Order: sequence, then structure tokens, then C-alpha cells
Amino acid sequence: MTKFERTDNNSRHIGKITISTPHGDVQVSTPLLYPVVNLMTGTTANGGGVWGYVCDVLLQSLSSSHPYWSSLYSNTPFITEALHFLDYNVRPQSLEARWLSQPLRHRYASETRSNHRTSARGPVSHTSAMFVDSGGFRLLRLPSLVLHEYGLLLEGHEAEGVFSLQQRYGADIIASLDYPFLPTISPGEAQDRADRSLFNAIEAMRLARSVSSTGFNPFVYAACHGLTPEMMSQTVTSLFGQSLELGYDVRRLGVAVGSLVPLRSSKKLEALVALVHAAVEAIPRDVHNFAVSPVHTFGLSGDLVPILVYLGVDSFDSSTFLQQAQIRRYWHPSKRKYVHLRDLSDHKGVLGSLCSCPVCENLLPNDIIASLVSGEEPTLSHDGSHEYKSSWYAKLALHNLYHEQVQVASVRSAVGQSALSEFLIDHAGHQHRIRLALMTSARLRNDWKLISALERLSSRSYHKLPLLPASPLEPAPAPTITYRYTPSSFNICDPDLVERPDLSDLLAQYEPGAQFELALILPCSSVKPYGNSVSQRTTLRTLSAAVGADVMARIHKITLSGLYGPVPVEFETEEEVLRYDFLLSTVDKAQIAENARRVATYLNRWTRQGRYRRGAVAYVPFRAYRDAASRAQALAPGLVITPSVNVRSTSRDEDQLAELIEAVRQCFGDVKGDIVTGADVPAPYKSMVQAAFDTNASPGPRID
Ligand SMILES: [Zn+2]
Repeated sequence: MTKFERTDNNSRHIGKITISTPHGDVQVSTPLLYPVVNLMTGTTANGGGVWGYVCDVLLQSLSSSHPYWSSLYSNTPFITEALHFLDYNVRPQSLEARWLSQPLRHRYASETRSNHRTSARGPVSHTSAMFVDSGGFRLLRLPSLVLHEYGLLLEGHEAEGVFSLQQRYGADIIASLDYPFLPTISPGEAQDRADRSLFNAIEAMRLARSVSSTGFNPFVYAACHGLTPEMMSQTVTSLFGQSLELGYDVRRLGVAVGSLVPLRSSKKLEALVALVHAAVEAIPRDVHNFAVSPVHTFGLSGDLVPILVYLGVDSFDSSTFLQQAQIRRYWHPSKRKYVHLRDLSDHKGVLGSLCSCPVCENLLPNDIIASLVSGEEPTLSHDGSHEYKSSWYAKLALHNLYHEQVQVASVRSAVGQSALSEFLIDHAGHQHRIRLALMTSARLRNDWKLISALERLSSRSYHKLPLLPASPLEPAPAPTITYRYTPSSFNICDPDLVERPDLSDLLAQYEPGAQFELALILPCSSVKPYGNSVSQRTTLRTLSAAVGADVMARIHKITLSGLYGPVPVEFETEEEVLRYDFLLSTVDKAQIAENARRVATYLNRWTRQGRYRRGAVAYVPFRAYRDAASRAQALAPGLVITPSVNVRSTSRDEDQLAELIEAVRQCFGDVKGDIVTGADVPAPYKSMVQAAFDTNASPGPRID
């Protein structure tokens, strides 16, 4: 019997759809991502272009019997849209004769499916669920689209026309014909479209019941829309009210929320989560207080998935993986975003090192990547056929899909371990806008525990941290280290190059506080946060005792990281700064030069804008750091370096620190005792400092 059930009494997120078919039951487990697959892409089931290869893999043809594919994508449920043949010039006659004479997958499973070029294609063996969407979104921008030629969407019989197509395709799951809208639509029109969609949903339930004796027993998703949470709530409430009144079996009814893609595109995530929440909340509850019906959201995947699962969404669909591949965009696993292949130029030919997915490791031919990266059309080997290029795009798409599936699998795993909250907090750490959307979701659900965890996460942002922690930060377990960080993981000078998007934003917006008159540069330590290390604590305590708290309050501590160059104190608890392990060595000339460039760039940038008016002092007793500071001094001549001579094993800490104290005292020479006046620096000195830091006035020697 076709039905949905929640299968874990302890979790509202785990469920199963069972579809009764003439060949036995088909089951899908939720949460789940359905990749979008187009089947009617030409005149035969070989599939046109890239789709032929994608279908080979996702529908399991003989040519995809490679172990990598089968372990990755074995018999995955997929979604296809009822009207997609319109994109492939399939004429009415051809539709009827070639595609509707038997269920779609029968044609694909036929022995006659072959590839005339390589003859390696072969029949598919897919038996998992096929979800057929109505294609209503096509009507979004084409209100007058007339499909009469195809005998479809005859006035007054639109829902029936689409239902009949879905049946003839051999769908296991269907969505009712709907009329999506943009968020800018007038409220009256939105209501009209939402009502017509609701009417079609009820109609789909009626049709499903009327044909059940024929063996066609699809699970039915009612496509629901709302301009506001109130409209959404009314629509869903009315859906269940009418269904129950008419005696339809609501166990085979799901709610599919539409009109969300435009909100996502315009980054209105808070409005989006409010609509989804309203839809979920309007569904009747079972004895465990779980929603009785599963919820699907059309066209959303990627980093929204964890939040949507939290709100109670059970399934997703995505065509992003293929759309991005078609424009040569590659999901960058560590940047967590799509990047054009040409931006991987540093990694030319070594994609396997960027991504550990089986596609990249074993199947992507590096020569083709290299030719694409270089901006040329791939010079296609064997016969230079079009087919080879399509296969390459398909592999890029499957790499992208792999990462979408990994995202969903990790949420599913977190749900299975009752660790969704922890997963969400970690997820929210990556992106500011995701954090805001999650905060809205937590508020909608009155989830105080998550709200306060997210507030703590926000308070980690730089402006709320203590600025010069001379004393240790709060004791915390020692962070584990990782070697995956590179000099680009944290870069105060070139935030655009930083991999993690929210850190990149934070660095781009960063300004040192206006109260800081002196930059104090100290070497990094293996203990993290740096402020907890014995070396920094000793230095700061000694300095503070000598110059007093008032002066200390005007000093900005900047740690010279061997890996990242300057790290202002506000960033000491960022993941990348806590968890790297790197000791700068005197033989690493390139790294020393890069650190020097970053230090000089940072100091010059801010002194030109009036910060650090008393200059900058580096305290660098260790040789490699001293080399970096000396090279920086060549570009930023205002930088004072202490101690003045190279440290030897016989040097005493006190002597070195005495030099630092003296240098700082000189910079604050006009500040008397503990009087805090914010006194102006004497003009001649001030202009000297400004001039010294101005690289235009004093370019200094080039560093390599
Ligand atoms: Zn990959």
C-alpha cells in the first residue's frame, strides 16, 4: 500500500515512503535529495549530449558498471519534470510515438539502447523511485503557454492532462500541477494562483484514487504556495481539511512547497524559512506530535539543506549540479562554493588533490581539465567527437552531485545520531547569512537552546572579543590541529583569497580599533590561542608592568604567524588560527618574504588611514621571524625591530625585553605617568611616522 510513515519514534526527521507498484513495493528513505534527470532529450533513449552519460550513471546502465559509480549512485531515486521534452524539441508526434507508448524507464531498459559511437551504453537497470514533477514552474513566465498541440493543458482539464502524462511515464511519486509565482506578485494574484494550485492538488488526489485499480498508485505531493506565512498556512490547512472531508487517504499525501527559488536567489532566506515553517506547522500531527505527511521543497539544495531538515523538510531536489557543470563550474570542497575551472589554475591537472571524490580521483582526465582551464575548448581525443566532451561535462556534474549528496548524507547521519543541533551550530559557523537564516528558524520554533548557542557563536566575532588579552583567555580544551590549512586560509591583506566565505567577509570588513596608537608585533606560538602561551604572557606582563595599563590600552597586539603573517588579536580564536601547526624556518625564504609583504601591507594600509600614529614595534627574538620583520621593515620603514641584535643562546630574556620596553616608551614619550590624555603626538614626530609608513614616499627595496 502506498503511504508515508515516520519510522523512528524518537526523531521527526526520519521516514519512509512506500509505493505499491505492479512489480512490488518501491521504498525511499528520508531525508533525501532527488537529483533532476531529463530523459526525453532526443529521439531515442540513448539520451542527448551530457544527459546520456548522466543517465548511464544515475539509472545504472551497463556502461556505468564501474565500481566507483555503483557504490556512489546505486539505484538512487531521481526526479524528472513532466514537460522537460519541450526543451529538446520533441514534437507532438514523436512524444506520442516514441515516449508515451511505454513507461519511460522501459525504453531506457531496452536492449536496443546503445551508443552508436562506442556501443558501450546498454540498457539501464534502475528500479528505485521516479518522482515526476508537473512542470508548473514553466507557466511562471509563460502564462499563455498552450500545449494544446500535445493534447495537454486543455482548459478545465489541466490537472488531468498532467496526471495522465505522469501515469504514462510510469511515475512512482508525482506532484500536482501548480502555478508558482514571484515574491513581487500582487497579493490578490498570489492568492488566486495558490487557490488554483490547491484545486489541482485535490484533483490529483481524486485522480489517484480513481485509477488505483489499474495498478498505478503513486505517492502524491500537493504543490503548495503562499506569498506570506499566513497564506501558506491557510493553503495547507485547507488541503488537509478538504482531503479528509472527501475521504482521501492522507497517508499517501505529501506537501511540496514551491515559489521558494526566487527567494533564495534574492537572498531572502528569512522569508523563505518563514514560509517553510508555516507549511510544516499546518500539517496534522500524529501521536508522537510529528507531521503526518512528508514535506518536499522544490529547487532548494546545498547549504540550505541542514536548516530545512531542522524545520521539518524531508526531501529536496537539485539540478544545480548539472547547470553549474554546463558552465564549467566546479564545487570547490574547501571553499564550499562553485568556482570556474579557470580559477583552479594553481591546481592545474591535479584535481585529485582538491577533491577526494571518486570522480576526481579516478575518472577525471587531467589533460581535459588542463585544456578547459587554459580556456580552450577541450581538444577531444580519439575521434574528437562531441560525445567525449559531453562525457567530460557529465563527470564534472557527477562530482558536483557527489558533494550535494554528501551534504544530505551528513545531515541524515547527524539526525540518526540525534546530533542535529551540534551539526547546525557547526554549519552556521561557515556563513553569516546561513547563521541568520538558522537563527530565524530557531526563533520560529522557540528553540531556546539553539538560539543561545547561536548567540554565543555570534559573540565570537571580532568586535566583541577582548582586545589585548595580557592575561590568558578563558581556559579551553587544547584545540586539535590540522594540516589542511594553507597561507590562504587566513590572510588579512587579501581577504578575497581566503577560502572560508564568512571569514573572508569578516577580514574584508575589518578595521583596527581607533584607540590603538601602536602596533605591537609578537611571534606566534605553538600554544593556541596565542595569548595563552607562556612567551606572549611573559612579554605582555613585563611590558605592562613597565609602561602601565593606560599605555597598554593603546597598544594593539598583532601576532606574526609563520603561516599567515599578521594576525590581529581579534582573530585568535578563529578556527584557522587555532588549529594550524607551522613553524617558520629560516630556510623557507618564500614564506618569509610573503609574511614580510603581508606585515608591510597591513601597516602601510592602516597608517595611511591614521591608525597606529605612534608607529609599530616588533619583538622578534627568533631568527626566522626576525628575518620576516627585517624584510617588512624594508617596505614599511617605520617598523621598529627589537631586540636590536640577533639573539644568542647566552642572551638573557630580561635584556631583550628591556629593549622592547625602551622602544615602546619612546613611542609614548609624551604620555606622562598614568595620566590618560589621549595627548597628541608632537607634530614633527607624527609626520615622520606617517612619512616612514608611506610607501609612495619611501618605496624601499623590492622583496622577492
Ligand atoms: Zn570530485
